[in-house]
Parts: sequence; C-alpha cells; structure tokens
Amino acid sequence: MSASDYEILDPSFRRSIRFSAKVERLFDGCIWAEGPVYFAAHRSLVWSDIPNDRMLRYDECSGQVSVFRSPSNYSNGNSVDRNGRLLSCEQGSRSVTRTEHDGRIVTLADRFEGKRFNSPNDLVEHSDGSIWFTDPTYGIDSDYEGRRSEPELDGSHVYRIAPGGEVARVLDDFVKPNGLAFSPDETRLYVADTGASHKPDGPRHIRAFDVEAGRIVRDRGVFAETKDAAFDGFRLDDTGRVWTSAGDAVNCYTPEGELVGRILFGETVSNLVFGGPKRNRLYITATSSLYTVLTATNGCKTY
Ligand code: MG
Repeated sequence: MSASDYEILDPSFRRSIRFSAKVERLFDGCIWAEGPVYFAAHRSLVWSDIPNDRMLRYDECSGQVSVFRSPSNYSNGNSVDRNGRLLSCEQGSRSVTRTEHDGRIVTLADRFEGKRFNSPNDLVEHSDGSIWFTDPTYGIDSDYEGRRSEPELDGSHVYRIAPGGEVARVLDDFVKPNGLAFSPDETRLYVADTGASHKPDGPRHIRAFDVEAGRIVRDRGVFAETKDAAFDGFRLDDTGRVWTSAGDAVNCYTPEGELVGRILFGETVSNLVFGGPKRNRLYITATSSLYTVLTATNGCKTY
C-alpha cells in the first residue's frame, strides 16, 4: 500500500502517521477476523476468527501465525488484564472468560439475574479491576458465528463485572452495543451501537459517557456517526483520540469527535489494537485478514 491509503482530513493527522509506513497484510485466511489483543510480554498478538471457531496467534518476532485455540467457543472480542491474562468474550458459551497463567479458562460471568447473556461481544478492563462488556445478539442470531438460540434477556445491554464478580447492568438503551473503550484517564467510556445491522435506520454511532467510581454518571450523547456499515471495535491513543473501524477504513477522531483522518483497506475492518513494545504498531483485523502498520502515535494502553 502507499500514501494513497491514507486520507488526511485535518493537518493534525499527518503527525500521527507516516506515508512511508506501508500497510502490510500479515495473514489471510480467516472468515471473519475480530478481537485483536497484544501481549507485550510475549511479543505476540492473539485474535479471533469467529465463524471458524478458532483463535490465532501472530508471533511478532518470527512472523509466524499459528492456531492458539480451537475450538474457541466462537470467541469474539479479547482484551488483556493488568496481570497479563487473556480476557475473552465467548459467543458460543455466551460468557466472559479469563485464561489463567496456568492455562485454565475460568468463567467470569455467564448470566444476569439468572438469565443467560445473549453473546458477549467486546470487553475492556478498568484499572479498578472491573470488566465492562457489551452483549448484542450476533452470536445467537444464527449458527454463523455461534449457536442459534433464543435470547433470555430483554434486550442488548452493557454490563460491568465488579472485582468481586458481581454483575451490574450499566447501560440499557442500546440497540446493539458493540466495541467499547475508556479514555486514557478512564473518566470517559465510549460504546459503539451497530443497531443498523438489525434496523435499516438503526444507529451507526459511538456514544460517550462520563464515568465515576465504577458508575455512569452522565450521557454525553453521540460522539461520532458513520455512513459506512458501522463502527465495530476501537481503541484510543495516548492523546485520547479514538481509532475505530468504519467500513473498509480505520477512522481517527479527536476527543471532541472531529474526524481527522482515515487509513483505507480493501475489506471491511472489524477491530484494531495498538501493539508492539512501544504501542505504536497498529494491528487491524479486517474480514479475512490481519494487517499491521507503524504509526507516529502511541496507543494509550496495551489492552
Ligand atoms: Mg465487535
């Protein structure tokens, strides 16, 4: 790829990228790649290939790709906690899991008020040890990326698992909540709504909320909207800008919601993560492929 794969919408974006940094395709062969997470300790990236019911691992040192877990219970979003452990949303088991250092996979949450979740989609840990996740129905709508099932809950909501394990519903006015991430200082939570997948005029936006002491204290409304298919997953850089999937591109927004630039891909982007020892290497999952590109910005956190 070349400079034509970057779209500069505001001069500030030029300082975030290097035209000389090529977008590289590292792997092709997924059906729907999602949930990239970077492990600094192992210089490796793990991601989900949901319909193939597997997780793959890219070794940053050797360039090798191998199967990390198969079957994977149709894992979707992944993250890493402060102890370096893998956190996963499993659409097949309809649960949020953690992989311990000894390899055991433990369930952190699989129901709310006695009812099974729909199919947890994406998750992030807060520094207070809580885990926040979204629960749309994509994994139970059909057998394509999970198991077709009837929902037990009354809608698609956002939940918080407290450090002690108790689950609370924190947002209940989304159509299909999807990607989510905190601002670098963790005072703001961003959550995507991809409800247009189920309603022609449904939401294609990211909303922002103020967070204090583990609670949502203010709805700041719609942060950004897209005409593309949807915002799916996203991460923030250390200046608080939001780098998000948006159709076949990665869009970059300022904390005020201004679109400043795009990186273009030939296929629909699902999610991304900042990796590399300096958190300046963007890894992008896009339909069948894993891509990478070095940036001139740094991700706010490795998870
Ligand atoms: Mg997602």
